[in-house]
Amino acid sequence: MRRVTHAWPERLDTALGALFPFYLLGGLGFALFNPALLPDYLIVGAAAWLFFFLVCPALPGRSGLAKVAVLEGVLAGLWMTTVLLGGQATRVSRADLIIAMVMLMVYGTELGGLAPNMPSDLDPFLARLGLGRIGAVTFAGTVRTELLNGYRRLNYDPDLCAGCRSCFEVCPLGVWAMDDGKRAEMVRPRNCTACGACLLQCPTGAITATRTDGH
Ligand code: SF4
Ligand code: SF4
Repeated sequence: MRRVTHAWPERLDTALGALFPFYLLGGLGFALFNPALLPDYLIVGAAAWLFFFLVCPALPGRSGLAKVAVLEGVLAGLWMTTVLLGGQATRVSRADLIIAMVMLMVYGTELGGLAPNMPSDLDPFLARLGLGRIGAVTFAGTVRTELLNGYRRLNYDPDLCAGCRSCFEVCPLGVWAMDDGKRAEMVRPRNCTACGACLLQCPTGAITATRTDGH
């Protein structure tokens, strides 16, 4: 079985490859509208970015936003402390905390859709807003989006299984096992992040999805 890993070199690769443009965009925004805070942003934004990607597997929760929520809580507590301390806290330190909170939210939201072993936070949200497509990127109507938006429950009919092993091979999270090598078995259904891979690969229709939103 091939299980997808998301070790720190891969997380760093994700951070640099996919999120660097967001970091640059934020820097451009500060350079244009609040240049005094640009150095803070460059340092705090990068620190929050790298810290989150290094520790994210150890944080509770499955999606990027759930993981970020813990860090947001810690930062909100620090922010409240600066408010309570009043004059002893500088404006810049509060600004730094706010920058870190906003950037963590951005990074966490994006991470959900970039890592195969975490459910996307952004895709279903955009689909609910009716934003099915941005440029060449489609959100609504994909198997993954449908799974995340209401077809949350995967069904499996063992009588239809041909034992081809495709679901076992493609699932990144070890949801499937092969029963005596002949039939698939869902051994870890709670691991499923609705990536849709097994659903697409099953040649016999043994794996289907059921809407759970009542429509
Ligand atoms: S949709 Fe299928 S392949 Fe994807 S995580 Fe769930 S069980 Fe695994
Ligand atoms: S992909 Fe479908 S037919 Fe193949 S082992 Fe899995 S459930 Fe059975």
